Amino acid sequence: MLIAETMLGKPISLYLAQHNSPFINLLRKQQLRCPSCKSTVLVKSGQKVIPHFAHKSKAACSGFSENESIFHLYAKTELNRWLSFQSLHTELEKTYPQINRRADISVKLKSNEYAVEFQCSPISSELQHARSSDYRQIGVIPFWILPAELVKKEKLIKLTAFYQQFIRYSQTANQFYLITYSPEKQSFTIYHHLMPLSKTFFCTDYTTYPQKTVHFPSFPVSSFKMTEQTYQLQIKMNEKWLINIFKYRKSVRDPLLRKLYENNLSLFEVPVWVGLPLKSNIYFADSPMEWQFYLYLKIKKSKVFAQQQLVYELKQLIYKRVLTVRRLMEPAPFNFVEIAVEEMLHLLLQCHVIQKEGNRFSVHSTETGREIDAQNRKEHIEVFYRKMKVKIIQEYNRR
Ligand SMILES: [Zn+2]
Repeated sequence: MLIAETMLGKPISLYLAQHNSPFINLLRKQQLRCPSCKSTVLVKSGQKVIPHFAHKSKAACSGFSENESIFHLYAKTELNRWLSFQSLHTELEKTYPQINRRADISVKLKSNEYAVEFQCSPISSELQHARSSDYRQIGVIPFWILPAELVKKEKLIKLTAFYQQFIRYSQTANQFYLITYSPEKQSFTIYHHLMPLSKTFFCTDYTTYPQKTVHFPSFPVSSFKMTEQTYQLQIKMNEKWLINIFKYRKSVRDPLLRKLYENNLSLFEVPVWVGLPLKSNIYFADSPMEWQFYLYLKIKKSKVFAQQQLVYELKQLIYKRVLTVRRLMEPAPFNFVEIAVEEMLHLLLQCHVIQKEGNRFSVHSTETGREIDAQNRKEHIEVFYRKMKVKIIQEYNRR
């Protein structure tokens, strides 16, 4: 930690303090305590160690983790410097006694208060979620930033459920993005337009910005257009999902396998339009294949159906935990199920997979709508891709 207090409660900061300076040497002789748990802390400082405080005994302190790395101290210092340059009112390691938490940096901006947190190491998604809701409960906006090292600079990135919680939504740019920070390089990397292709793989585009060009809290997010290449990647990941089902899901209690069995259906016969690249895919924690597959089954069963039936089906599947909602920084819109069904039906109409009569839909009796011969799955996909790619990409980019 960078902030401790005297026995009288006066805060002492080691922010930007120099090793071996008279200030540090003086502090070494003083009795100081942790602002959170009030137990004794000692000054730690060295050639390669940023001056900081550490608890004397390794007793658990709920306000502060003792495993705080030098890297975290360094990042905190750099982030605070960056925020201060913007003339923002910051407070390092601010304690929030109501929720028993200590933010890395608190930032006050107009009527908003932010808790800027640099999350060095993965923690459980439940714990992460709890921290965010604690802050929100007291009206503080949590602003999490990941270390740059944790996310590869590639166009196809893997993000586990923990990292996905750092995905933010930009209303102005209408897209999901992720921020990482490198204190050494003094730069932010923005992963623009995250598009989930499976449970953990995302397609993205990234840009690195020197920190002095970035202003809190609006990070630059560039516009994005889906391309043929992205769509091809989606198809590839969909097919991978099919194969992995047989590899990894063996339990008779698996809802997906049970559904297949009940319907006497092979996954490889599933129509080529299941697993479409939709904006709504981000709301579901599973592969786009999964939630769209369940809707396909419902469509198949009902033959003629209303939009509301699919909405109900999807809500039931979420309620029964057959489908999981993806946990992102901001919660999904309250009507995300309606949005997802509407988007899917709209695209299926555009691709002439389904037709609409009044308020009712039905699948066209043409080849596109039907189940396919598993042997020739690849060819079927190729034909559909060639015929529909322009429409599908255009509709995605229009939203
Ligand atoms: Zn403490």
